[in-house]
Parts: sequence; C-alpha cells; structure tokens
Amino acid sequence: MPKSDNPQLLLEWARDLGKTNPFLDLHVHPYEVLTGDVGFNPDPQIEGLFNKGLFQYHPPVLDDINPTQPIPDNQRGLLLAARLTYNHTGPKVLTDQIDLAGLSGALLLPVARTAGKAEEMLEVTQKMFEKEARLFSGCALPINIQPDKLADFFRFARQRNRIRAIKFHHNLTGIDPLTKKGEELTNAALAAAGELNLPMVVHGGRSPGLEPIECREYGIISRLATVDWSISTAPVILAHAGCHGLTYAESIDALSILNNLFEKHSNLMADTSNLEPSILQLVLEKINPARLVFGSDALYVPIWKAWLRFLQSLQLVSTHPDDDLISIASLNPARCLSL
Ligand SMILES: [Zn+2]
Repeated sequence: MPKSDNPQLLLEWARDLGKTNPFLDLHVHPYEVLTGDVGFNPDPQIEGLFNKGLFQYHPPVLDDINPTQPIPDNQRGLLLAARLTYNHTGPKVLTDQIDLAGLSGALLLPVARTAGKAEEMLEVTQKMFEKEARLFSGCALPINIQPDKLADFFRFARQRNRIRAIKFHHNLTGIDPLTKKGEELTNAALAAAGELNLPMVVHGGRSPGLEPIECREYGIISRLATVDWSISTAPVILAHAGCHGLTYAESIDALSILNNLFEKHSNLMADTSNLEPSILQLVLEKINPARLVFGSDALYVPIWKAWLRFLQSLQLVSTHPDDDLISIASLNPARCLSL
C-alpha cells in the first residue's frame, strides 16, 4: 500500500525525519477569530485546560482525514461552528494536538476585531500559555491605533509578553489595503515588524460568510499584490497561500500572482493552512518549497488532520518528499521564528 493511503505509515515517515528536524505549525488560533472571545475558565482537574461552559474535554484521536466540514457561508453559521470548535483551549488542548501529529511546536495567532481586544489577548495569552515552551505567542494587530504608534505597541508587547510574530487579517479587521488608511496601517505594521525582527502572518484569500460583506475580500491576493511587502526586512507569511475560500480555478490565478510577488519580495513566504486537498496539491506543485511553511489553522482544522493531509499531498506530488517536508515544516518555520 502506498504511504499516501495509510495514515500510520505517513506519521511514521514524518516522525522519523522529525527526530533530527523538529516540525512546527505556524498557524494556530488559540481563540475563535470572529468574536475573539477569551472568556475561558481553568479546568479544576486538568492542568493547562481552559473551558467555556461545562462540555467535557476529549483528547484528539486520529480519525478519517477525508470528510471536510464546509466553511459556513453566513455569519450565523460561522458563529455557531465557532462556538462548537472553541469549547476548550489552552496549552493542554494544543499540545495534545501537536503530540498526536508528532510536531514540536506551534505559533499562536490571535485576531482582534475591536478596540482593546489585542491588549486583552496579550495578557490572557501570557497567563494561559507562558509555562508551555513549545507554544510561541503571536500578537493581534491592535484596532483603532494610529499607524505611528504601532512600533511602540509591538515593542512593548515583545518586551512584556514575549511575542514572536504579528498577525494581520485584513478581512476580519475591516482594513482595505486599497484605501489610504489601510495602506498606511499595513505599511506601518510592516515597518514595525522589520524593525523588531518579528515575522508577520497575513490572511490571504476570501472570508466567506463574513459581515459586513465588503470585508470578505480585503485580503484577496489581487489586493494584497499592491502592498510593498519589502518594507519589512523580516519574513512576511501569506496565509493559506492566498487561496482561502477560493475555487480551484481562482486558486490557479492566485498562485500565479503569488509567484510574481515572490520574485519581487525576497522576504515573502506562504503557509499551507486550511486548503482543500486538491488546492493544497496545487500549491505544492506550483510554489517553490523554499517559500512555504506548514500551518494547520487549528482549531478550525485539527492539527493532526492538517498534518496528515499535508504529508499525503507531499507524497502524491513531490519528487523529493523528504527534502520538501524538512524545508516546509522544519527549516523554513524555524528560520521565520529565528529559532
Ligand atoms: Zn487562520
């Protein structure tokens, strides 16, 4: 049986290579991104587990990797799905997932949509995760901040909360890179990221179901292509390889724009997170592995499932799966985080 059909063989293959090349997931959301709700209570019995409500925690198990839950295409559906996904969070939930997949660490990417939320998330994240050395904290872009205050904000967060990355989500924050205000904020965030040597993860693609409707496409790649990513000297990672919520045909166009951007901006990278298998395979065919990092988009996609799909896709399309796996999931992410 080929490896690509057998989850256990795929995991064993990776585990073996992971002994000398620790693997990282650079796209994990510790909180639900629509509401940014951080109202979790520590579990009285289980160390590192944080709960919302009284749902019992079930550690993750390997399951069928194929069924995909479609992204709901309306705000109500999105909120409902999110509530079910985020009954629990915390270091226990995330390390259970990375352990099951055989990874060594993950980058946490909170997203803020209202003023004061990014600040609140910094404090909550530090308290919740500071004892867990395998989880690296990212910082949400703060809302309603003047562009010229961003560098100080991130500098303080790096000192006080030991942030390792910045998350910028044009759709969820309602920032249109084509407006003057959006351009100023994006450029100021990039300048700050470069100055502080912090990688920046930028959502790439559509956000189906998001309201207001016009925000759904602020982060599509044709808009992001107008940004001067070289303003930052640190790595900038376009999440979902710019293909979130796109059809197969749209993804072909997006990846060709992405390849042009790679030629222009040597600091630009892309992550593999939350793509349907056919589009993930397209990404692995069209994009130079030197520009890719592995990401899951947990908890929306369980880390083990994203990892298995990624391993399966590599086995199907790569001519050098060992080398590509090591580049995409170990060397490139470690370089992005300056590990
Ligand atoms: Zn995400």
